[in-house]
Amino acid sequence: MNGPQRTDPLDNNAHMRPAPKPRLIGAPDPAPKWIPAPAQFDNLRGLIRSVLSVSSVSISFDASDLIRTSGVQRGFISVPLMRDDTLIGALRVLDSADRMFTQREQTLLQGFAALIVEQFELWQQASRDPLTGAMTRRVFETDLRKAIAASRRSGEDLSLILFDLDHFKRINDTLGHCVGDRVLQEVGRVAAQQLRVYDTFGRLGGEEFGILLAVSMPEALDVAERVRAAIEVTAFPGHETLKVTASFGVAAVGESLASADALLRTADAQLYGAKQAGRNRVHADDAMAPHLTVVR
Ligand code: GH3
Ligand code: MG
Ligand code: MG
Repeated sequence: MNGPQRTDPLDNNAHMRPAPKPRLIGAPDPAPKWIPAPAQFDNLRGLIRSVLSVSSVSISFDASDLIRTSGVQRGFISVPLMRDDTLIGALRVLDSADRMFTQREQTLLQGFAALIVEQFELWQQASRDPLTGAMTRRVFETDLRKAIAASRRSGEDLSLILFDLDHFKRINDTLGHCVGDRVLQEVGRVAAQQLRVYDTFGRLGGEEFGILLAVSMPEALDVAERVRAAIEVTAFPGHETLKVTASFGVAAVGESLASADALLRTADAQLYGAKQAGRNRVHADDAMAPHLTVVR
């Protein structure tokens, strides 16, 4: 075999060397602090815990965490979760410090890691809207509630962006429903391109979308503005004169905004304000960003 050497995820000396920088999907910006941990892995975690009789098993989809902890040490193993060549997270097992893991146990863990990735992909397929590739409203709202609970426990940042295509009905009326569908599909693709693998992107209704990010208001505003600009310049082959825009509302978790309903309501009110102000713009909750509202 002459191909490039691949790092053995269970290499006993891996923790001695600087970990290779993993390739992340999307923009390589700073890693987030919060990552949703899908509840469907609870059973698998329990199974691994009893099969290996270890004290703790964690499954994380925070790839940045792995940079610090990859490898095998006494009482600890971390196995990368890989989707094709992309690092998406880690399966970590922890036990008493004098515990050594056998080769057979390490191989078992690699099998479990493959199972987790497979389940993760299946779950993603099942929870996505087939037209746009965004999460369904149900999954998005479940994620939102979990994220808010986690953010209230940890005090970490969490922001919600809602956006709605401008005058979308006109596109359907003048060019037909099929073109309307293609526009939705393209907007979904373009918006997702601006996001990181661990942001939650959902289609909340016909032509309304939501983005959930583990960042504070100023960063969320940047992301909203980036998505807005990307949609505005999107070209639709065969419809050269077609220009699609969207209006955005942003809200961040804070003292006065601590529930999913309050966050959704506030972002929606801002979105409505952006429509009223002339569309194709980002508006943010003033309480969190008194001088940051983007007025174009
Ligand atoms: P505004 O700028 O105020 O948001 O105006 P709008 O025309 O975008 O809003 P309105 O709510 O009046 O119209 C939304 C349209 O979106 C109406 C509906 O037929 C269309 N729509 C909803 N879901 C789909 C879909 O899956 N495919 C297509 N082609 N159209 C859809
Ligand atoms: Mg609309
Ligand atoms: Mg709408």
